[in-house]
Amino acid sequence: MDKKNSHWSELIADEIAHKSAPPFVVASGITTSGPLHPGTLCEFLFADAIARELAKKGKTQFVFIADLLDAFDSIPEPFKKYEKELTPHLGKPLAHTPDPMGCHRSFGGHFLSEAEGAMEKFGAHPEILTADRLYSEGRYDEYARMYSERKDEVKEMVRASSMRETMPEDWHPIMPICEKCGRVETTRVTDCGGGEYGYACDKKTRYGVDGCGHRGKAKISAHKYKLLFRLDWPARQDFLNVTAEGGSVDHHTKGGTIATVYAIHRQFFRKPGPAVFYKFGFLKYKGKKYSKSKGIGHSVAELMEVLPLPVLKYALLRPDLQEDKELVLEEQTLFPLVSDFEYAASIDAEKEVERADRKKAVAYSLTQGKKWRAPLQDILVTYALYKDWAEVGSRLDDTEGAAYIAPYVEQWLARKWIPDKYVFELKAAPHAHTELVKEFASSLEEGMEEQDIQNIVYEIAKREGVPPPELFKSVYLALISKPQGPKLARFVKILGIGRVKGMIG
Ligand SMILES: [Zn+2]
Ligand SMILES: [Zn+2]
Repeated sequence: MDKKNSHWSELIADEIAHKSAPPFVVASGITTSGPLHPGTLCEFLFADAIARELAKKGKTQFVFIADLLDAFDSIPEPFKKYEKELTPHLGKPLAHTPDPMGCHRSFGGHFLSEAEGAMEKFGAHPEILTADRLYSEGRYDEYARMYSERKDEVKEMVRASSMRETMPEDWHPIMPICEKCGRVETTRVTDCGGGEYGYACDKKTRYGVDGCGHRGKAKISAHKYKLLFRLDWPARQDFLNVTAEGGSVDHHTKGGTIATVYAIHRQFFRKPGPAVFYKFGFLKYKGKKYSKSKGIGHSVAELMEVLPLPVLKYALLRPDLQEDKELVLEEQTLFPLVSDFEYAASIDAEKEVERADRKKAVAYSLTQGKKWRAPLQDILVTYALYKDWAEVGSRLDDTEGAAYIAPYVEQWLARKWIPDKYVFELKAAPHAHTELVKEFASSLEEGMEEQDIQNIVYEIAKREGVPPPELFKSVYLALISKPQGPKLARFVKILGIGRVKGMIG
C-alpha cells in the first residue's frame, strides 16, 4: 500500500512490526488526579488505534497504567467543597488519599474509574495496571536497587539527557513515602546502601505543604517508595516489555522526558527500549492548548453531550497524529464535522480511493460506526417540518437512527449550531413571482425524480427570462418564508408533492 495513503495508525503499526517481533505490548498511561480531560481521551484512543492495527500483525497486548503513586497536589474544581477533608492529604500518593465521595478505595481510584468508564464507552479495552499495585508487588525493587547502587552514574545520565547544567545536591532516584505522615513529596533520601535507605521528611512542596520532620529508615523490599518519574518510566517499560508507547510533543523535546527514558534504556539497562515512541500533538481550542485550569476548551462531559461518541472518536483519530488538533464545536464547525463523518462512513476503505479519503475511511473504521441511516440533511429537514422524532423516523424509514440522533440535534438546535437553511417553519411570505411559482407547483407530479423537479424551475425561469436564482428564491419564500432553504428538489420530495401543491398550487 502507498504510504502516503495510509492512516497514521497503519504507519506506526508497520514501523513497530518492522522493528520488533510479537508479542507486541502497546502502553499508555496517565495520572488520574482529577476529572477526565479531553487530552486523556487522546492518550488511550491513540494507543488503542495502534494496538488494533498491530493486532492484525501478531499477538498484541494493550496496557494502561494509572500513576496512582503520584502526589495529590491540588484539589480539582468540582471537589473544592471537600477542601477541609482533602487538604490534610496534600503531598500523599493519590492511591493513599481518601475518596471524599466514598465510592472508591482512593482519590486516584475515583478518577481512574471515571477514565475506565470512558474507555468502555469508546470501545477501548486495555489491561489496566496501577502504579501502587506494581510497586507493592515488588516490580520496581530491582530497579530501585540498581539505581541506588549506581546513583552517580544514573544522575549523570539524567543530567546529560535532560540538558541540565547541574543537579540538586540531594538528588536521589528514590522518593520515600514517609511512614509517619504518608507524604511522598516532602521526603528526601539521606543515605542508602545494602537495599536500605534513610530519609528525612523535611521538604516543602511548591503548593505549600511541609514535611512532618520525621526521619526514618526503610528497606526497598518493603515497597514504601516510588521512583522519580524519569526513572520510573523506563523501568516500567522494561518489566512490561513495552514495544510502543506514546507521548505528547512536550515529552519529545530536546532534553525532554523521552530523551532520559531512552538514555536509561540504552546506557543503563543496555537494551534498545521501546521500538517506537510515537509523538502526538496537543488538543487545541482556537489555537490555544486545552487547559482545564485555565478553562480553555470543552469538557469531556460537554463533548459527550453534543457529539455522538463515534463522531467524537472520528474527530480525534482523523487528523495526522503529530499535528495539533483543533477541537472546537460551534456553528461553523459542527455541521462540517458531522457531514465529514457521514462521508467517511460511505467510503469503502478497501477500494482505491484518493489519499485523504482513505485516511478518513480508516479513521471511521476505528469508531463504532454511524448509528443512523438517513442522511443528516434529510433528518434535519424532516424534523423542521414535523417537529416530531417518531414522525422523522417513520418518514425516513430509520426509526432507530432518528431516536439515536434526536438528543444531539436538539442540543445543536438549542445552541444554534445548525445552518440556518435547516431551521424553518412552513408558512408563506410575499414574493415577486406568484404565477410562476403556481405553475411550478402545478407541474409537479407524484413520483417525479429530483432532477426533474429541479429542471421545472430552470425551464420556467428560462422561458420567462427570469434569472433562475430569483425564481428559486420565490419558491422558498412561498414555502418557508425564507429566501433560501435546503436543496429544493429534495425538500419537495420530503415535504410531499401533494402538500406543496396544497400550499402554493
Ligand atoms: Zn469515588
Ligand atoms: Zn512525614
